[in-house]
Amino acid sequence: MAKNLTIKNFHDGLINKEFTALEIAEGYYARIREKDGVINAYLSTREETALREAEQVDISIAKNEKVPMLAGIPFAVKDNMLVKNEITTAASKILEHYTSSYDATVIAKLKEQKTVLLGKTNLDEFAMGSSTENSAFKITTNPHDPTRVPGGSSGGSAAAVASDMAIAALGSDTGGSVRQPSAFCGMVGLKPTYGAVSRSGLIAMTSSLDQIGPITKTVEDAAIVFDVIRGKDPLDATSADPENSDTYREQLLNPDFSRIRKLRIGLPKEYFIDGLDPTVHSNIEKAISKMKSLGLSVQEVSLPHTKYAVPCYYIIVPAESSSNLARFDGIRYSRIRKQEIEGKQLQELYLMQRGEGFGAEPKRRIILGTFVLSSGYYDAYYDKAQRVRTLIKQDFEKAFESVDVLLTPLTPTLPFKIGEKVNDPLAMYLEDIFTLSLNLAGLPGLSLPVDKEFSTLPVGFQLIGKPFHEPDILGLGRLYEESR
Ligand code: GLN
Repeated sequence: MAKNLTIKNFHDGLINKEFTALEIAEGYYARIREKDGVINAYLSTREETALREAEQVDISIAKNEKVPMLAGIPFAVKDNMLVKNEITTAASKILEHYTSSYDATVIAKLKEQKTVLLGKTNLDEFAMGSSTENSAFKITTNPHDPTRVPGGSSGGSAAAVASDMAIAALGSDTGGSVRQPSAFCGMVGLKPTYGAVSRSGLIAMTSSLDQIGPITKTVEDAAIVFDVIRGKDPLDATSADPENSDTYREQLLNPDFSRIRKLRIGLPKEYFIDGLDPTVHSNIEKAISKMKSLGLSVQEVSLPHTKYAVPCYYIIVPAESSSNLARFDGIRYSRIRKQEIEGKQLQELYLMQRGEGFGAEPKRRIILGTFVLSSGYYDAYYDKAQRVRTLIKQDFEKAFESVDVLLTPLTPTLPFKIGEKVNDPLAMYLEDIFTLSLNLAGLPGLSLPVDKEFSTLPVGFQLIGKPFHEPDILGLGRLYEESR
């Protein structure tokens, strides 16, 4: 059975009739049965439906029809994106029995491509966390070491791809949730420019930051998936197309490496902090040397407001999350059967629904968020955080006057042990120190492994681009990856 396929070599094998989509899908389910008892990447699978989807692809191939690039690809999706008529939980008890009434735009696009959706993956409840330990249902383990976390919040998606229980996956990234688990699992993860991918049908966490992005085995695959899911969508008013769509697509899928080699790389000095784990640090140095040896120019830049990014983020996120989570009032989205609700007082109902339905982290953010938005505190916290956000954004604009791309560490630590930080929210929040500024500034970021093989644990680094300059970071990522 073909193993460790990328999108590219699956597609080639499929159209050259080296295997069928059905055989491959069956192989992936066999692997899920074999491995997921330990890894716990999936919250739900949909084998019968997926195998039927694979058969449809094989019928097209047998008729020699041209099939889209993602046709037949065994794909995993984070369980905060809606798949019509199927359960979407956001890893929360409050949505345990919620059946999606429509397809998220990204899912509709995958279905159009005839992608085979294997199942929905585990996450931190409502995407709040950096380790996937905040799931109400299970703890996902890191495929490189089952005693460690896979990162989060898209830990299930990253672990599924890393253990070859899917060829590619989607995650969502509000402050690092695609990039950090990709780094911890040795995969490639792309957080697109804010608005590049429609958020319609993604369960909202922080609407001004959320973006959906691919988690894949190669940079080329990330570009392929991103090209399928991106684009303006009437269902998301914040979505947008890049200015010059045709050149953009060409550069995305077929990078001109002579152009890429001329990109100027900036190293933000505030990202090379004292607390950086020494193994992470030496790996980042290795990535920088590699870039230099590929002929790229590297210079130091400054992002002076970096130290305010974590506090700023952890005011804006609870504020918007508390307002987004208000819709789960237990009248709509009831987790309890109708008969049990009848005759209950409102307060009692809230305790049953929200009190028992939300886990500790969403509750913490609802309380904090409500506080920073309340009259008397709004100006001191929320409004101030929004002003700081503008300063952070301006830092990047300034840096991008002298460089084209920024290169930074992605995580301050190696994948940590399960249980190590779960009771220390501040330590957990600090995990996002290198990833969340991008979301505040709306910029695209790519996470990619420093090495192809790891003697111990994977280390990832980050490439940050200007808005709608995904072709720069993906092109540079590919140059790096292909010369590794
Ligand atoms: N770890 C961050 C948080 O808890 C990021 C989460 C995310 O990107 N969804 O908010």
